[in-house]
Amino acid sequence: MTASPDGITRQWMCAAFCVAALAGCAVSPPAPSPGSSSSDSSTPVPKPPGSTTPPSTAAPSPRPPPAAVEGVLAQNDHFVLYRARRDDTLRSVAQEFLGDEKRGWEIAAFNDVKELTPGNLVAIPLRPVNPVGVFTDGYQTVPILAYHRFGDKNGKMVVTPEAFAVQMKYLAENDYRVIPMADLVEFLAGKRSLPQRAIVITADDGYASVYRHAYPVLKHYGFPATVFVYTDFIGAGDALTWPQMQEMIASGLIDIESHSKSHESLVAMLPGESERSYRARVDKELTVGRDVLQRKLDIHVSIFAYPYGDASAAVVERAQKADYQLAVTVNPGGNPFFAQPLLLQRTMIFGDHDIEAFKARLQTFHEADLR
Ligand SMILES: [Zn+2]
Repeated sequence: MTASPDGITRQWMCAAFCVAALAGCAVSPPAPSPGSSSSDSSTPVPKPPGSTTPPSTAAPSPRPPPAAVEGVLAQNDHFVLYRARRDDTLRSVAQEFLGDEKRGWEIAAFNDVKELTPGNLVAIPLRPVNPVGVFTDGYQTVPILAYHRFGDKNGKMVVTPEAFAVQMKYLAENDYRVIPMADLVEFLAGKRSLPQRAIVITADDGYASVYRHAYPVLKHYGFPATVFVYTDFIGAGDALTWPQMQEMIASGLIDIESHSKSHESLVAMLPGESERSYRARVDKELTVGRDVLQRKLDIHVSIFAYPYGDASAAVVERAQKADYQLAVTVNPGGNPFFAQPLLLQRTMIFGDHDIEAFKARLQTFHEADLR
């Protein structure tokens, strides 16, 4: 059981309902292998009434060979009712049934378990359960944290490595789930559930201190993060180098995305600038930096961070035309399922934030009476 008062209890009720419904539904379990049995522990297993029951289940052997146990008791389009076998883990079962070991949390949350033990009866949701994160008492919001530089305390935009380590430790120890930013694409499209305490970590501009100070901590916890780079900055003394970016990308944790070419604000037309040349300038900022990153790093860039977080309807329209899937501002707040993907809110983490200020910025649920 997690410390989270929200979500988990709801999921649990949901799971109990599902198991009951699935156990009561008339679907045939997959054909078991000869001699298989599902009774390899003391946990009684509900049989789906009306289904074709394998003969071996009707007369269980007291000690069936574990290798012969299929584990699947029933399934339909939405759920698999599964009894954990020896050596099963959430990750291995998620890989087997959901095609992605990282989705083990969905099985854990739905069944209110931390890990699988042999004999555990679990319902594996095959389709996203409540992908929009809406409940009768509110809805899920996903905070996107925004960092800039890391180092000695000499300004608001600089977070010390020690403070960053304490913040990441807090996330790890309090059941926050740091997710890759790209996971938001399907969440915002209503196609994917996210963990109840999902958080996204980003760092802007492309300072080498991200590599030096933040990356080792992120690696320690296995936390993914997105680094927004403006390409005119690369080559400067305190900027990330191409090899540093390549190394971080190769870890599978860090993705490099675009923060424009020059870091000029995109919202205001320059004195004497025509509508047409303004659009051309914005388009250039949106695409040139991206193209350089894609070419030099052999990656696909689909997320944009507006310089200074400044966006307008015109800029959003250009970002859409440039095929960005997500774009972020620095308007503070979390992101519910109905957030506009090209106007996502972000929460700045400043150098003068203590741990209490940090905690206050981790709002993963917005209470509202939606009954
Ligand atoms: Zn910036």
